[in-house]
Amino acid sequence: MVTEYLKGRIAISHNGNIINAAALREKLRRAGCDFNATTDSEVVSSLIAYEILQGGGFEEAIVKAAKQLRGAYTLLVLGSGDRLCALRDPSGFRPLCLGRSNHGWAVASESCALDSAGFDFLRDVQPGELITIDGRGRMSSRMALGPAKLGMCLFEYVYFARTDSVIDSLSVYEARYRMGEVLAREHPAKADVVCGVPDSGLEAAMGYAAQSGLPCVPGFVKNRYIGRSFIFPSQAQRDMAVRLKLSPLRVNVAGKRVVLVDDSIVRGTTGAKIVSSLKAAGAREVHLRISSPPFYHTCYFGTDIGDEENLIANRLSHDEITTSMGADSLGYISIEGLKSACSGCSLPFCDGCFTGRYPLDAVEQSKTQFEQ
Ligand code: SF4
Repeated sequence: MVTEYLKGRIAISHNGNIINAAALREKLRRAGCDFNATTDSEVVSSLIAYEILQGGGFEEAIVKAAKQLRGAYTLLVLGSGDRLCALRDPSGFRPLCLGRSNHGWAVASESCALDSAGFDFLRDVQPGELITIDGRGRMSSRMALGPAKLGMCLFEYVYFARTDSVIDSLSVYEARYRMGEVLAREHPAKADVVCGVPDSGLEAAMGYAAQSGLPCVPGFVKNRYIGRSFIFPSQAQRDMAVRLKLSPLRVNVAGKRVVLVDDSIVRGTTGAKIVSSLKAAGAREVHLRISSPPFYHTCYFGTDIGDEENLIANRLSHDEITTSMGADSLGYISIEGLKSACSGCSLPFCDGCFTGRYPLDAVEQSKTQFEQ
């Protein structure tokens, strides 16, 4: 988001969600700011620009602005001068890491981005930490925000992050593999093969297979040109994306009892389509195993889970969900099991969408309400 203001312009990159964005936008409107978009990121950039105009320097303006933000934010802020600042909110909801190469510095949400761009991973940016990189390549850092109740997003390890990332000292691959091991212990199944739903179910499927002694085989071929299906706004688009994205591998599933490992069930429609496609390809039984607990609550901190009334776990009983998915059995990992699989993370977790207990308690507004 690029914001022009009287003395120059700033560019920000924002991951997360600001829960008091509406109140801040109103305050800025009254101060004469114009808004062109419906995103909270624009509020963040305008607030920083506003604080720059109040005087006190670039970094101080960022810190002053950040102290007014409630919610999740990892930010990169590039000013008209020669400074790039990186900031992670004091709860540490979203990941942020620092890299170095002969060409300079890099800051990214995930370490896989540093690997791809030829940077060495140096370290995670800590919750509340502000990093400044100047035009001469000098890096400085200080704790600018907090302390606050910590809460790294547990769902990053289940689904969001890329498998080759290491976040807050924990390898996403290892975490997912262990989720599968835990699932196999918590919900064993009499089956012939284990298949993972690409992509974020694959490592959990490997862990499940290793723990249970069953062979792990590919159950689907994935169309590489389709993005994440949950991102599409309408159900019809999501259904179409699932159909185009995953094609069952008949040779591996026909006549077999299949343990199918997926990362989550949100509304239930995607999973049902995947199960029915396996059965249409000849699978004798499908035992669905899920590497996250049921979603009962929405997320106010940057994950698009949707409204609580649309979450299938709030609408149907366990048996009804199993039937509606067309599965022969269904098992979710427990919250304790999930946390034990992620025990290498250096931060405490946010698990609010599973438990209803969030690190920040006074939730003012959902992302959808703000956008509307
Ligand atoms: S509520 Fe769930 S998805 Fe949102 S930040 Fe917390 S753990 Fe992550």
